[in-house]
Order: sequence, then C-alpha cells, then structure tokens
Amino acid sequence: MRKALSFDIDQTLNIAKTPIPDEIAELLTDCLNHFEICPISGQKFDQFLIQIVDRLVETGHATEEQLSHLHLFVAQGTQYYRYIPSGNGYAKENWEQVYNYPLTDEQVAKISKAIEDSARELGFWEEDKLAPGDEIIENRLSQVTFSALGQKAGTEAKYAWDPDCKKREQIVKLCKEKAPEFEYEIGGTTSINAITPGMNKEFGMTKLLEYLKLEKKDVLYFGDMTQPGGNDYPVVQMGFDTITVRSHEDTAYALRGILMNL
Ligand SMILES: [Mg+2]
Repeated sequence: MRKALSFDIDQTLNIAKTPIPDEIAELLTDCLNHFEICPISGQKFDQFLIQIVDRLVETGHATEEQLSHLHLFVAQGTQYYRYIPSGNGYAKENWEQVYNYPLTDEQVAKISKAIEDSARELGFWEEDKLAPGDEIIENRLSQVTFSALGQKAGTEAKYAWDPDCKKREQIVKLCKEKAPEFEYEIGGTTSINAITPGMNKEFGMTKLLEYLKLEKKDVLYFGDMTQPGGNDYPVVQMGFDTITVRSHEDTAYALRGILMNL
C-alpha cells in the first residue's frame, strides 16, 4: 500500500489560485487518516495556508493529529513546512519551516529582467491589465514567477489568456537566450516559473523521499501538467507513479476510489 499521496495544487486540487473546493477538503482530510499528504507547488507558503490548510481546518474539521500528516512542499519543494501539534487546537504559528533554499538577490534581478524584456519584446507585457497593487513578476524566494495578468486577475481572463501555452512557450524561448543559466517552466494558467537548474519538482520530490524516509514506490503523485515542459513532468521523469488529471474533479474521482478500496 502507498504511504504518501503527493499533489500538484493549481488545476489538480483547485481551480487555479483559488481555495480547494469543499469536496476536495473533505477527501483530503479523510486521506490524512491513512497517508502522508504532500502538496507540492510553485506557490508561496501563505497561499498553501489559504488554499489548502484553512479549508481542511474549516470545512474538513481536520484535527492537529491529522495535520501532523500534512507536509507542505512550498515553491516546488525548495521550502518544506510541517505541522507540530500544540495540544491547544490549530494555530498557524505551529507550522515549522524545516528547510529553505532561496535564490540570491542577484539571481532574482537577472531572471526578472530576462522575463520582463522577453514579454515586452513579444507584446505580452500586460501591465495595463493589472489590478492596483498587483504585479506580474513575483519573487517567491526559491523561484521567480511570471503571472501574465498578475495574481488578482479573474479566473476566466486567466484561462483565456494562453489556453494552448503558445504565448508562454515564446516567452520561455526568448528567456533562454537572455538568461540561459536558469530553467523556465510553464505552470498554472498564465504562469512561468524560473528557477536555478534542478530546483524544480525533482528537487522537492527528492527531499520528500529523504525527509519522510520513503521510497518512490511508496508515493502516488497527482498533477495536470505532466507533459514534457510542464511543471509536473520532472516527477514523471523521476519514475514516480503518476495520475494525470484535467481538473480537481478528476482528482476527487480518483481519491474516492482510493479511499473506497482501503
Ligand atoms: Mg498544475
């Protein structure tokens, strides 16, 4: 039997950038009784709390004991957080950062410039469409993320912006000429993640095995971008058993099947 279930977040557990639906919150809470649960995504720690943890606590009524089986592999697993039960009920402060591998300021500046210049040259720099206070390029410490329409744009606008990934493929191609020492991955609906080589989900999944003392065969991975160039592809390449989903509905279907057959 599997010991851990690992999940991409955007489009795998939710509609990109939104809290997980109630059904997923309930299924994941149930899964915490049987498996180590390991979401891994390019997003920041705060977003893991808003999109997943708060939903498990509020909708799934997850206990501290259950949360001690939840492992947050933030920024593609270049940061890892685990929950240390206090005995006094859930509190955000009880999350412990186990490790962190950040980019240097110089690397962040170089990547940011390469992405902005590339997007501008191609006519894909949509500054005029941003909500006030929003930004296109975000420093997520272990990676720099381009979100074409910013973080706050509506889901519909995001889906419509680059459904076939063609715009982002062009930006990535140009970035590789301008700053070839970094790797660029297409993720979510409008995003490109830039990282130092190897600091992708392969890094995170390697750390997951190490810190949870597991072997590859112990883990089942769920993701929506498992094709070459997608941000879940490194996990496939490593040889993990992977379920490719189109949406959180596929994931819910698979989880119901897993829970029913325990
Ligand atoms: Mg995804």
